[in-house]
Amino acid sequence: MSVQTPVEQATIPPEIDSVPSTPFDADSFNQAVMSTYSRYPLALERGAGCRVWDTQGREYLDFVAGIATCTLGHAHPAMVEAVTRQIQKLHHVSNLYYIPEQGELAKWLIQHSCGDRAFFCNSGAEANEAAIKLARKYAHTVLKIDQPIILTAHASFHGRTLATVTATGQSKYQKYFDPLVPGFHYVEYNNIAEVEAAVSELDEGDYGVAAILIEPLQGEGGVRPGDIAYFQRLREICDETGILLIFDEVQVGMGRSGKLWGYEHLGVEPDIFTSAKGLGGGIPIGAMISKKFCDVFQPGEHASTFGGNPFVCGVALSVCQTLEKEQILPNVEARGEQLRRGLNAIALKYPQHIAEVRGWGLINGMELTADTQLTAAQVVKAAVDEGLLLVPAGPKVVRFVPPLIVTEAEVKIALQAVEKALATVTA
Ligand SMILES: *Cc1c(COP(=O)(O)O)cnc(C)c1O
Repeated sequence: MSVQTPVEQATIPPEIDSVPSTPFDADSFNQAVMSTYSRYPLALERGAGCRVWDTQGREYLDFVAGIATCTLGHAHPAMVEAVTRQIQKLHHVSNLYYIPEQGELAKWLIQHSCGDRAFFCNSGAEANEAAIKLARKYAHTVLKIDQPIILTAHASFHGRTLATVTATGQSKYQKYFDPLVPGFHYVEYNNIAEVEAAVSELDEGDYGVAAILIEPLQGEGGVRPGDIAYFQRLREICDETGILLIFDEVQVGMGRSGKLWGYEHLGVEPDIFTSAKGLGGGIPIGAMISKKFCDVFQPGEHASTFGGNPFVCGVALSVCQTLEKEQILPNVEARGEQLRRGLNAIALKYPQHIAEVRGWGLINGMELTADTQLTAAQVVKAAVDEGLLLVPAGPKVVRFVPPLIVTEAEVKIALQAVEKALATVTA
């Protein structure tokens, strides 16, 4: 069954629509591409708004959005315009020169956050790497800690480079990749006693805690919102000790939570935060944003060839401006409430299978009960069969991260598809 949005029919440019679909050959794909991903048997070839089409012309409602990335959906006119303009004007020159678009994007970000300075790179992992390096230099030069330790949380996710996979508090991502990077210590999320104990126990000899790197809401680890009292105490501990408070806003930032930054839900400002996924609406960009007092990097100490080039910054700036101009954040709150209300109503019908629905704005998780054999992957697969794209967040949580422009009608259709999928997998 294909999902049709009643209020708003597809607006695919006719020249794209008339291109005959090439039959997709998964075998030849798998022979040529390294097998780092287990893929759904789907090849997507075009998109418009919150819908995407596969190579056979089948339509799907996209509640994955490139994993919380395509904030403006697919083929948004503002992005089409910005990409076209920027590629015609100038796309890449390197940071040997001033890049006006980079300056404008940095200004937008610091005007719309607690930060004072931005550094640009290409992904979430790279933004977190930058934050880790900055924290280490800050530790050596300001805190005078020779062996700095960074605290991170169990069930966190910070990326796949060696340092960020070490920061990620999930051993399944680290297996086979040791020796890992030294200087990390894990604490339970939302448990302040563990942080207090670690800060005092690790303060010995050359060692000391230099930073706490943490997600305001754990995305990959199961859509777990941070606890307000916990985060406020983290802020106090950092203020008392000089430890840097670093928020990984890669998934929850840029409006996904209904506020521009996840930390706004917690009433706490970080010293440094990172952004990526939603920042460019789907073009690859990452950023680390810090307070002025953390500005310790000197020329030559950190860099990225592609980072902050005119192309990505021009497009990301237009994504940022569109979020503001089209008043998208109120939609995120309203659609998020609608989605959670609907999922909670469905949960009432499946008490043996669904334990909890939780989230902020348009990052939501539906957790399955510990008792049920059912996995998030099975629910996601059944939803795909109903024409709805979803993604798990761990083995027992189904994640809902649609484009931030999703309509009331589309949320309604998604809820119907979830209900049908659950009926199938629980039958
Ligand atoms: C996705 C994610 C990352 C890694 O981002 P990449 O762009 O894949 O490197 C880091 N932190 C969080 C919270 C994420 O969700």
